Amino acid sequence: MKTLNIGNVTVDRVQDWKGAVFHVPDTWPGSTWEAVEAQRDWLEPHFLAPKGQGRDGVLDCSLHTYIIRTPHFNVLVDTCVGNDRQRAAIPDWNMMNTDYLAKIAAAGLRPEDIHYVMCTHLHFDHVGWNTKLENGRWVPTFPRARYIFHKTEYDYWKDHQDHFAMDNSFADSILPVVEAGRADLVKGDFAIDDTIWLEPSPGHSPGHVCINLKSGRDSALFTGDAFHHPVQVAYPEWGIFADTDPAQSSATRRRILDRLCDTPTYMLAAHFMDPTIVRVVSNKDRWKLRV
Ligand SMILES: [Zn+2]
Repeated sequence: MKTLNIGNVTVDRVQDWKGAVFHVPDTWPGSTWEAVEAQRDWLEPHFLAPKGQGRDGVLDCSLHTYIIRTPHFNVLVDTCVGNDRQRAAIPDWNMMNTDYLAKIAAAGLRPEDIHYVMCTHLHFDHVGWNTKLENGRWVPTFPRARYIFHKTEYDYWKDHQDHFAMDNSFADSILPVVEAGRADLVKGDFAIDDTIWLEPSPGHSPGHVCINLKSGRDSALFTGDAFHHPVQVAYPEWGIFADTDPAQSSATRRRILDRLCDTPTYMLAAHFMDPTIVRVVSNKDRWKLRV
């Protein structure tokens, strides 16, 4: 992804991993490959492999963190899976060993340069690099950052740590941040300033939030896992099997699409493949993305 300029703010992406994670129909109950094919004209080539590559039924997923740099502070949005963690749910993400921090450094930032870490929700693939293993202990990776967790989300997962999308991440990626005094458990209308603020978008998880970014006349919405793949822009009724409330997640997608459709606001999702920077446009009685 190229650097995105939003007024006097920049957004960059650090990609930690990418690969085939999504399978139709299993990932989205009720989905069909025929319906995916019906959207091929705009999904290919970025979000759907060309025909004849033997990849029918499979869609790719990116794991990445967004870096927001304003004139006043540096923010990370979502922190991927992290290294050294046992994650049984997705074999490729088990005991990962990536050069994530080197990529952050290559983007010009040391861990101590990060002022805020914001998690759209607390599933294990959004909180991993919140911490790192140091002398056998999990410690905050970004020692000076305030970590912004939606309290509704935190309170729910505190009592549902056995969910497969948590997979012990509460203990190794969230609790150590809280115990180090680095976490702020905030309400759904939390704002850092008039540039960056939260917006509740429940359904995938109870306290899922989108993050608004606005500077000058430009704006972007970080949509986290409200959408996992662009195909859900065409079919917002397709909820991922991990949604805590499928009907609510579908309603949230429709609301976001209606709001962004045919506007200049960029949509920045947590798992969309390159080029990642997209806008929502109308497509007959549905929606599609323009890159
Ligand atoms: Zn995710």
